[in-house]
Amino acid sequence: MSSDKPVPATTNDAGHPVQSQEHSLTVGTDGPIVLHDHYLLEQMANFNRERIPERQPHAKGSGAFGHFEVTNDVSKYTKARVFQPGAKVDTLVRFSTVAGERGSPDTWRDPRGFSVKMYTDEGIFDMVGNNTPVFFVRDPTKFQNFIRSQKRRADNGLRDHDMQWDFWTLSPESAHQVAYLMGDRGIPKTWREMNGYSSHTYSLVNAEGKLFWVKFHFKTDQGDGNAYLSQDEADKMAGQDSDFHRRDLFDNIASGNYPSWTLYWQIMPFEDAKTYRINPFDLTKVWPHSDYPLIEVGKLTLNRNPTDFHSQIEQAAFEPNNMVPGVGLSPDKMLLARGFSYADAHRARLGVNYKQIPVNKPQSPVHAYSKDGAMRVENAADPVYYPNSYGGPEAQPTPAEAGLWHADGDMVRAAYQLRKDDDDWSQAGALVRDVMDDGMRDRLVTNVTGHLCDGVSEKVLKRAFEYWRNIDADIGARIEKAVRDQLGGESKAPGMASAKSIGGK
Ligand code: NDP
Repeated sequence: MSSDKPVPATTNDAGHPVQSQEHSLTVGTDGPIVLHDHYLLEQMANFNRERIPERQPHAKGSGAFGHFEVTNDVSKYTKARVFQPGAKVDTLVRFSTVAGERGSPDTWRDPRGFSVKMYTDEGIFDMVGNNTPVFFVRDPTKFQNFIRSQKRRADNGLRDHDMQWDFWTLSPESAHQVAYLMGDRGIPKTWREMNGYSSHTYSLVNAEGKLFWVKFHFKTDQGDGNAYLSQDEADKMAGQDSDFHRRDLFDNIASGNYPSWTLYWQIMPFEDAKTYRINPFDLTKVWPHSDYPLIEVGKLTLNRNPTDFHSQIEQAAFEPNNMVPGVGLSPDKMLLARGFSYADAHRARLGVNYKQIPVNKPQSPVHAYSKDGAMRVENAADPVYYPNSYGGPEAQPTPAEAGLWHADGDMVRAAYQLRKDDDDWSQAGALVRDVMDDGMRDRLVTNVTGHLCDGVSEKVLKRAFEYWRNIDADIGARIEKAVRDQLGGESKAPGMASAKSIGGK
């Protein structure tokens, strides 16, 4: 940190010169501290307020800045200026784990967040993705419960594998994501070497108003996306360097080794979605590459580290409803709910004016009718209401707005209607049978066995064996045998049996 630059004079937050960094103001050298030592008071008060609430979930993470550049002509799918030939925009990417707290180890087994923010001349575009192309649940009503099951118990404040498998095995739609998580990609070697997926299906609209469905795939240029840490390596690393992934990204960028990803799209014509053999909006499913091949779009490069972690990374706010004209949402129920919950989380965590924090601020002009609220730093301008006769901003209706689709029917609470090939097990089975090789399958069995032998009660264990047999009969049998051998019979873990009833009585 040493430098030859002249050392600046310390000031307080109002810019007044500070008298001492060593001594508080006292009555005589040994006397009491006086209340008008404003600098001391400011320092203590600010220190007490340094922490803001951590994200719930995705609390632990880091990120870097760079740019996204279009390398192919995909203008027939979207009118979004950020995806037109030659476009290049500033970008921020944040990587994270899901269930761990802000100080938790980077190498715990977990999906990884892969959130991209593009500062376009049509406003901010965010893709709030993961390093997996699918998710554990497909209805947002289950999301909160899912996350609670992965975090900590009420009574002892501990994470609990019994709770995790209890939820998963009672939610068979989780099978595809759990198979992915228990494989090598559940602990990526570094963030640089993993892929990022929108997971959700989004919509695109082109200049003629034609609509397409799309999935985003950011494929790493540092290898094949399969670089992993074994469970043993990850456990050791959690003790040696709990910030291993954060450090790896920072050090590589600092030394000029800039990571990059190639963006591909899978495009589904609008009409296909009505009859496709699987529900294309179900977040627990992929679109097989053989049906919808990858189309190259552009390159994402990270080449600039944050200089103030708190203001640039901790306060970075990504939200799926940050859409630019030409890109929109879809009937994916999880995505529609995230459109509310992310923005709401930011309002709760950062305050209602979080889009004025420099890292979240659009680089394009903002002419909104929003006004006032905590921490507003941009001046509002009259007129502050609409309609008005004083030249206030006007809406710009477009004939085909991205995200437009047809919906009709009675109001119901029901699952998606099943398509011909919709079930919870086939794609998970295809992953372990057809995509993984022998080594990957062996490690999958070892990983699941270790997880199940660590605190899972007998009743949940039995369901877990059935769950894995539904994914693949052979893998299920191997897991059951390995667990029984390791436990020497039935599980003695009490699960929730030791807990007080709900309500704490
Ligand atoms: P393909 O054989 O065409 O594609 C399989 C894909 O799986 C690869 O292209 C690669 O995607 C990914 N992959 C490779 N190794 C692993 C691994 N160890 N763990 C997880 N994923 C891996 O088959 P399909 O498209 O028909 O998909 C079959 C299965 O592959 C799916 O059920 C899904 O589990 C998985 N998959 C599919 C993706 C898709 O979009 N179709 C994307 C990722 C996984 P990539 O190059 O993106 O890493």
